[in-house]
Amino acid sequence: MNARTLYPAERGTLRLSFEYFPPKNEEMEKQLFRTVADLSVFTPAFQTVTYGAGGSTKARSLTTVKRMIGEMGLKNTAAHLTCVGAPEAEVDAVIEEFVACGVRHFVALRGDPQGGVGSAYQPFPGGYENAAALVKALRARGDFEISVSAYPEKHPESADVAADIDMLKRKVDNGATRAITQFFFDNDDFERYLERLRRAGIGIPVVPGVLPINNLAQVMKFAGLCGARVPEAVVSRLAHLDDQPEERFTEASHIAAEQIVDLARRGVQDFHIYTMNRSPLVAAVCDLVGCARTGGIGQQAAVERQTSRTAA
Ligand code: FAD
Repeated sequence: MNARTLYPAERGTLRLSFEYFPPKNEEMEKQLFRTVADLSVFTPAFQTVTYGAGGSTKARSLTTVKRMIGEMGLKNTAAHLTCVGAPEAEVDAVIEEFVACGVRHFVALRGDPQGGVGSAYQPFPGGYENAAALVKALRARGDFEISVSAYPEKHPESADVAADIDMLKRKVDNGATRAITQFFFDNDDFERYLERLRRAGIGIPVVPGVLPINNLAQVMKFAGLCGARVPEAVVSRLAHLDDQPEERFTEASHIAAEQIVDLARRGVQDFHIYTMNRSPLVAAVCDLVGCARTGGIGQQAAVERQTSRTAA
């Protein structure tokens, strides 16, 4: 057990995945790749790179994915892809570019409406209508892993949870192999949601998205936009620590670690962590929940080479 482990996961080894966003400048790029290298010691099941709605980060997402797979040897890198605001041919061309970089796993999304969160969504003329249509197109192209979004607290545009579950079912029927959830802080919400999914006949793995809180004000603003609740129990543990960075860091790492351990006790083994491209807090959380530091860029590449030799 790791010396820093406070909440040893009780149900075997947890599998982690990490989410990154493409950097906007050179400094952010350095930080991102430092973070990816730092967190690779936890041997993530995969890492993902987000994609701006309407293709706003297309070049940066492609470059980032290419570097992770090509230079760092992280073949288990997944590319997010949105279909909002673009004709099918343009989205198809991006799929081809990702495939040429070595991508075998997509996170297929619709994306926020072009007018921004809260504005009415309009399918683009000649474009994929929604995420379900994008999943169908990806499945027709190849034997990819296809992850999709899921919303334990309901997507803000959905009339109700049933409509949301219906959309997820359509994505699964079209070939999605895994759902990754929006971040949430109340594990009861996740458990209730998962029970409803299973009752609706949705059997794919549903991986909870966990957001360690680097900045409470920012997270509360973001949560408001995407329909997630930050419970008072979480706010009250952090709100008074604005001027105490060390205490805030410790508290934030324990909040996320407690959430993961509680989910593990309820039978969850896979976790998707929103890293915000920063490693210290995420690494602290991983240590707290007892994830072994046995990987690393070289190690992971070696495991992947071994796996592909065995499969060949
Ligand atoms: P869908 O699954 O197609 O729809 C989400 C829900 O909205 C559905 O359940 C449905 O009930 C409802 N809905 C959809 N269309 C309508 C409609 N016309 N009328 C009424 N209700 C409707 N965004 C990015 O821009 N880039 C990313 O890389 C990215 N990555 C993400 C990763 C994860 C794991 C998650 C959870 C979200 C991510 N998002 C990303 C955010 C996502 O793009 C937004 O939440 C977007 O508004 C919906 O996209 P979706 O694929 O979830 O849509």
